[in-house]
Amino acid sequence: MNDATDTADGTRALVEDTRSLVDGTRGLVSQIIHGSFVDGHGVRTTVFLKGCPLRCLWCCNPEGQDRGREIKYTSAHCTGCAKCVPVCPRAAISLETEPDGSTRARIDRRLCDDCGRCIEVCYLGALDWFGKYYTVDELFAEVKKDEKFYSASGGGVTVGGGEPTLQPSFLRRFLKKCREAYIHAALDTCLYTTTDEGVRALEEADLLLCDIKTLDPEQHLRATGKRNDVILRNLRHLSARGKPMIVRIPLIPGHTDSPENLRAVIELLCTLRSIERVDLLPVHEYG
Ligand code: SF4
Ligand code: SF4
Repeated sequence: MNDATDTADGTRALVEDTRSLVDGTRGLVSQIIHGSFVDGHGVRTTVFLKGCPLRCLWCCNPEGQDRGREIKYTSAHCTGCAKCVPVCPRAAISLETEPDGSTRARIDRRLCDDCGRCIEVCYLGALDWFGKYYTVDELFAEVKKDEKFYSASGGGVTVGGGEPTLQPSFLRRFLKKCREAYIHAALDTCLYTTTDEGVRALEEADLLLCDIKTLDPEQHLRATGKRNDVILRNLRHLSARGKPMIVRIPLIPGHTDSPENLRAVIELLCTLRSIERVDLLPVHEYG
């Protein structure tokens, strides 16, 4: 196959990927964790959808922020065979000599456009995709494997991210599937969604695990890249609808942990109904 054919195939695949994400027939999942005890009631299967509208300074999962698939490089699996170097159309890969004399690939992320060609020649799995596409049925089949644990523990599925409402159509289809199977479905959300469909997804979940970081809009902007007006509007709207919520306040030194901020957040929460619980999360437990 020549370069032009490769490029045409790559472009077609990218268009197809983008179309399926927009129409919600497929979702981009960065990780699935089975048997979690920390993402809601009982035993949970936690699905992480890729992409987040916030850029929190303390984010523990920065590789989940981008909406698209990305190249994942695991240096421990790299033998320095150099097969990936000549196939990269953007000359983003070089080989570097380690202090022990071994060679390893190095990717210049500023040049890489995530075309994926290097993955095809890396037989040792040092290069792979971060983010995998699932149809609703495929994802549902994966979480259904744990169904007996849900019924025994009062658990279910938790969809987080990133921010799950960034893939609202796929998310709503998945929630519907869970609802039809009587599987409890929670969302782990920052509540930052500006689309009607994103808000509908929040309304349709059985439980929301939501972060409230700071009530100061300027501080929120500095710490996350967004003001908090959308988040607070959604919080009040969902509370007015009686949506069960567990609110988490991350205690980030210098950003969210001042007594004034904590008092203001608690005072706000006291005016709302449907808040089941408030958790204070020390920074080492956050993420
Ligand atoms: S092809 Fe894979 S194993 Fe070989 S140098 Fe590239 S990343 Fe390393
Ligand atoms: S994904 Fe494409 S551009 Fe990025 S390093 Fe691999 S071959 Fe190069």
